[in-house]
Amino acid sequence: MSKSFHRVLVTGCTGFLGRQVTNEFLSRGYLVRGTTRALEEEHEGIKQDFNAGERFELCTTNLLSDNGWEIAMDGIDAVIHTASPFSAQEPKDEQVLIRPAREGTVRVLTHAYNAGIRKFVITSSTAAISGATPTKKNQTYTHENWTDLQQNVSAYTKSKTLAEKAAWKFIEQHQDAKLTTVNPNVIFGPLHSGRSGTSLRIIESIISSSYPGFPKISFAPVDVRDVAWMHAEALENEHLVGERLMMSSTPITMPQIARILKANGWKVTTRTLPNFIVRFMALFIKEARLITSGLGTTSYYDCSNTQNKTGWVSKSHEEMVLSAAESLRDQ
Ligand code: NAP
Repeated sequence: MSKSFHRVLVTGCTGFLGRQVTNEFLSRGYLVRGTTRALEEEHEGIKQDFNAGERFELCTTNLLSDNGWEIAMDGIDAVIHTASPFSAQEPKDEQVLIRPAREGTVRVLTHAYNAGIRKFVITSSTAAISGATPTKKNQTYTHENWTDLQQNVSAYTKSKTLAEKAAWKFIEQHQDAKLTTVNPNVIFGPLHSGRSGTSLRIIESIISSSYPGFPKISFAPVDVRDVAWMHAEALENEHLVGERLMMSSTPITMPQIARILKANGWKVTTRTLPNFIVRFMALFIKEARLITSGLGTTSYYDCSNTQNKTGWVSKSHEEMVLSAAESLRDQ
């Protein structure tokens, strides 16, 4: 545990990532207060998932409202802001994702700052780095890249880019505050408890066998336990202040993920859907439309800055895919 910080606020502690982040801080001996939109009558059930007694508290807050944030920040030493709406579906109104992400980030920072808190770790995403159409076929991104919002990008990509930009602007305007962002690619790995969230639907869609095959789109996934660990490292290590800690592995396609599962006893199809079929399906199926821009391109991520500064070594694809599938089956 850090010498300076004992009690941390984890926003979005009920999410797929938020639960592992909460678990990581609890296991390092911190007192954790989590935030959720869930009303007080639902708190007991969430608390039981962590089994941490008085070391874990809950507060009801919403990123779209000022209510409850003053109480949430009371007595807190540092804020880990993971809450943000994450959806693979394109909403009719992009503000449904953008407002809670951008306004919510500024709201959390402002309430925390007013309460005397100066230390922040925020969950951003590679969506804020590589979210626009690559200019090269196989482009490599670093932590210094930013998504070009002049291009036609998804509402989620916009929400994460605008939220992270707003956070760095806040820090620029409040020079005594310290920020580190964690920018993961798609997150796999085991569920701590609760619902599966958006990213594990990729694994769910393969093991549920409801599709005849999978498009050749690629991800550079990271394990949720590694991402949670990185949030705690970001808080504890002063030399990580000001960093964007990008986290990705080597690219892997959906059919390759299916092959890992099949090699380990899962009864799944490993068939690849040809790109022209996926493009044809996109004419009729909304979900297929969302992935067509990723067909035929592979993005690579150079995470050497994160690795050199933290010593992080990514878990293997096998580990993150199989642990995700097993935890989905156990749920
Ligand atoms: P998730 O399971 O859907 O969790 C999202 C969390 O955000 C929930 O705890 C939810 O809390 C909270 N939240 C959403 N809207 C809110 C609002 N209006 N007010 C307050 N809280 C709100 O998503 P996740 O996959 O764990 O993602 C967590 C974070 O990681 C997000 O910032 C996401 O952008 C980032 N990220 C995720 C991935 C990934 O592949 N999963 C990759 C890169 C970055 P309640 O419902 O309890 O209120």
